[in-house]
Amino acid sequence: HDYTKDDIRQMAQDEDVQFLRLMFTDLFGTIKNVEVPISQLEKLLDNKLMFDGSSIDGFVRIEESDMYLYPDLSTWMIFPWSSDRGKIARIICEVYTPDHKPFPGDPRNNLIRVLNDMREAGFTDFNIGPEPEFFLFKMDENGKPTTTLNDQGSYFDMAPMDLGENCRREIVLTLEEMGFDVEAAHHEVAPGQHEIDFKYADALQAADNIQTFKLVVKTVARKFGLYATFMPKPLAGINGSGMHLNMSLFHKDGNAFYDEKGKLQLSQDAYYFLGGLLKHARSFTAICNPTVNSYKRLVPGYEAPVYVAWSGSNRSPLVRVPNSRGLSTRLEVRSVDPAANPYLAIAAVLEAGLDGLKNKIVPEESVDRNIYRMDAEERNESHITNLPDTLHNALKDLAADDVMKKALGPHLYPSFLEAKNMEYDAYRTQVSKWERDQYLELY
Ligand code: ADP
Ligand code: GLU
Ligand code: MG
Ligand code: MG
Repeated sequence: HDYTKDDIRQMAQDEDVQFLRLMFTDLFGTIKNVEVPISQLEKLLDNKLMFDGSSIDGFVRIEESDMYLYPDLSTWMIFPWSSDRGKIARIICEVYTPDHKPFPGDPRNNLIRVLNDMREAGFTDFNIGPEPEFFLFKMDENGKPTTTLNDQGSYFDMAPMDLGENCRREIVLTLEEMGFDVEAAHHEVAPGQHEIDFKYADALQAADNIQTFKLVVKTVARKFGLYATFMPKPLAGINGSGMHLNMSLFHKDGNAFYDEKGKLQLSQDAYYFLGGLLKHARSFTAICNPTVNSYKRLVPGYEAPVYVAWSGSNRSPLVRVPNSRGLSTRLEVRSVDPAANPYLAIAAVLEAGLDGLKNKIVPEESVDRNIYRMDAEERNESHITNLPDTLHNALKDLAADDVMKKALGPHLYPSFLEAKNMEYDAYRTQVSKWERDQYLELY
């Protein structure tokens, strides 16, 4: 929506909005919000609202303490679950420095920057259709999540197998009230696992939608006494949760990936973009799969990708080309998980694709057989490499790639590497139950 300041004033008054939640996202993808009473609205609309950024992850320097929040008026939205003390509206903000420049440590500003580069390269939109998956767990009497799943259902099951159905339906209704265009909602393969797909949007809005989506899912689940988690692999032995990203690039004449006469009806640009994705796949993995736990999902046998390859027909590779053509011609990157900061993940895949376009990177041939049935030698012959198998290895690849450095920019790139190396170190120095079970009595 293209709201003006007056529209906002009017809606706030008509709907009796009493509080404003000013939201932005930190380095780790966590939504942060400052809540202010409606009396601060004018100050906000004048870009004069300040906050202390020094304790926000990824901001963390003394000179980043006094920051401004510039509201993006198009993101105005009234929460359907507002209290009886008046309604609460949220507005997503851009973080600005004390001298009124976009703060480069704000992941959303960074995506805006990469989208501007895309426009300079001659495109109008980068469309993203995410497929976030999540688990619903029961909560204990203190409201803490347990690891007890709320059902034993499986793919596309219906009630009574799918006890999450009422909760999921309420999530969908809430999303629709908030303006989402929900395309599909279903039980996923694992017990307690669900997926809700909403219509693609331009990259910035899609990333905002992902953040809002997570908030809604968690909030509604709580009302049903359930805990919703987007942790990539909460339980070993069953599928983890992915967040496949469907993507397409548009220019003024429509979908730049579509060419009626091209091979598989894909354009030359689609192939170059794909070439860039595959070339930088190992180095964007740390951004798209940013936790220690993410790598427990990227293992064979659970519908998550392990190898760097693409296919027009099967679902095992990293990039799939779904069947739809015309306006819906798209590439689906299947490695991304919902722990990823959506602003950073989308900036990373876009920068990879743009590099492919700029340098005319031709992708390897597609692999249309099940890669999991190929042995190492066959994979080698087809030039299929592996995705990194740990956060540690993923970070090494990220640290070595200048295109990813460009994707995150001079502020976010080093802070991301530093924070994530620390996270890996903290994990590495733990001694786990598995190790004690394995070794205590053996040695
Ligand atoms: P899958 O076959 O992997 O389960 P779905 O049909 O569930 O895929 O998901 C399709 C997603 O792709 C939806 O979010 C949809 O809006 C999105 N999509 C459709 N067309 C485009 C496009 N041109 N660009 C980006 N995303 C698109
Ligand atoms: N849950 C699977 C994953 O980890 C994806 C299942 C699907 O194809 O939707 O990516
Ligand atoms: Mg799915
Ligand atoms: Mg998919």
